[in-house]
Amino acid sequence: MKRDGTLESLWQKTTPEFNSKNNNWNDKLFDVVIVGGGITGVTTALLLQQQGKQCLIAESFNIGFGTTSGTTAHLNTLLDTPYSIIEKNFGEDGAKLVAKGAKEAINIVEILSSKYKINNDFSYQYATLFAQNEDENKELKKIFEATIKAGVEGRWTDKIPVPADFTIAAEFAGQAQMHPTRYIAALAQAFEAAGGVIVQNCKVTDVKDGEILNINTTQGVITANNLVWATHLPPGINLFNFRCAPYRSYAAAFKLADGTYPAGLAYDMKDPYHYYRSQTIDGEKYLIAGGYDHKTGHNENTGFAFTELDAHIHNLYKGSKISAKWSSQYYESVDGLPYIGLMPGSDNVYAATGYGGNGMTYGTLAARIVTDLITTKYSIYKDIFSPSRMKPIAGLSNFIKENADAISSFIGKRLNYESIEQLAELAPGEARVTEFNGEKMALYKDDNGKVHAFDPVCPHAKCIVNWNTAEKTWDCPCHGGRYSCMGQLITGPATKGLERITIYE
Ligand SMILES: Cc1cc2nc3c(=O)[nH]c(=O)nc-3n(C[C@H](O)[C@H](O)[C@H](O)COP(=O)(O)OP(=O)(O)OC[C@H]3O[C@@H](n4cnc5c(N)ncnc54)[C@H](O)[C@@H]3O)c2cc1C
Repeated sequence: MKRDGTLESLWQKTTPEFNSKNNNWNDKLFDVVIVGGGITGVTTALLLQQQGKQCLIAESFNIGFGTTSGTTAHLNTLLDTPYSIIEKNFGEDGAKLVAKGAKEAINIVEILSSKYKINNDFSYQYATLFAQNEDENKELKKIFEATIKAGVEGRWTDKIPVPADFTIAAEFAGQAQMHPTRYIAALAQAFEAAGGVIVQNCKVTDVKDGEILNINTTQGVITANNLVWATHLPPGINLFNFRCAPYRSYAAAFKLADGTYPAGLAYDMKDPYHYYRSQTIDGEKYLIAGGYDHKTGHNENTGFAFTELDAHIHNLYKGSKISAKWSSQYYESVDGLPYIGLMPGSDNVYAATGYGGNGMTYGTLAARIVTDLITTKYSIYKDIFSPSRMKPIAGLSNFIKENADAISSFIGKRLNYESIEQLAELAPGEARVTEFNGEKMALYKDDNGKVHAFDPVCPHAKCIVNWNTAEKTWDCPCHGGRYSCMGQLITGPATKGLERITIYE
């Protein structure tokens, strides 16, 4: 299975390419077109099709191309946004509703895994959160109290699953784990078996509003009564750009010399925190660990995060060896909860985004919510996750500032090879944004030594992209637009690639 990065995740290595069997849409009017074939899109499509709706999934590349192939697939009711914060922003009842939704989502994954006999190793687990100093103790006590109040079952414990020093620890029941891409590939199969249509290599480029939506794609126009943006972030310039910030996180699968793979899910309290769990695939065991998150495009040396992760795990488990490493992107919302529901101002276009590091849970919950909204116009979660909510909370001004570092730039598009001195400094496979005659330029030297030049201005909102050394992509620090080394659009809110600059030999 291919994904939006150069490094190969453990999930990709162990999931074959999905081949669509039912990809002919024959000028049909669909009840719902779902854009995006990650966990959100595939689950939404299946639930809607099961409810008798005629659905089509349009996917730019292939099923599992996005972050669902780069996840670590913890399924949590213990969420990244602590319940103390959710309670502060949305009240006690709001926190309880969010916990209920997360529990329902995990239950959906359990039911679908069992119904379709999916080889995804779904299992319930305890999640342990551990503190390592006095400040973290205080924070953990606060989180524990709010989590229990929200309705998640938990208790204090004197054991943690990983061999790290700790001061206090709490464990929470009802968490889970699975193999994410085998799961969505099986759901996609079930969707087709139920009469659903999947069109891969089909990018949605534009949608003409109306009671009947005309959806322009790279494979022609599709018509539908409803559309769901299950693209992780809806494309184009829209309000989500100011409410969701892109982050990159790093993960790796390790083989442990002494075979002491941890039982359960575990997290420390650092910022960003480390996360750990085990996974068995076809009889092989792995420790999956990750962390080192940072805002997309704000770290020059993305490869160093893996050195740190490797060293961190080596400290805990002598003789550990990496067998796969990868990084991927997620979107953090301004008030800590995702946006799921009707796009503001529309009555037939839906979106689901801003999941943070809980998109396995929230993507599944989004499928439940959007299915209910389309089939009954009602969901108990409609208001709390509504994209139209706007909370005047303290973080908002900082958040907007963080996202407002857009600058505009223009560079001449015709350059002489000889005159670009910096080219000599690039090794094959390397890239960099550099300055030439006072203008910025993105340069990439391919493995044959040929240099390719691009306008580094992200076509989405005019920020300057940065090179991601590990995944070999150009990443935009503002809203998460990502481009291949050759400037083609891979993912994010942009709708086209980087402009190429002609270099004369
Ligand atoms: C390293 C890392 C670890 C994580 N770990 C966890 C975890 O343990 N637990 C958890 O709950 N969450 C985790 N997350 C978050 C979670 O993986 C994501 O939130 C989730 O996978 C998002 O799924 P999605 O279906 O919404 O988006 P994606 O999986 O990104 O799918 C979106 C799809 O839309 C397609 N697309 C985009 N634009 C278009 C278009 N115009 N036309 C057609 N198709 C389009 C893309 O090609 C892509 O395939 C992690 C994230 C990262 C980065």
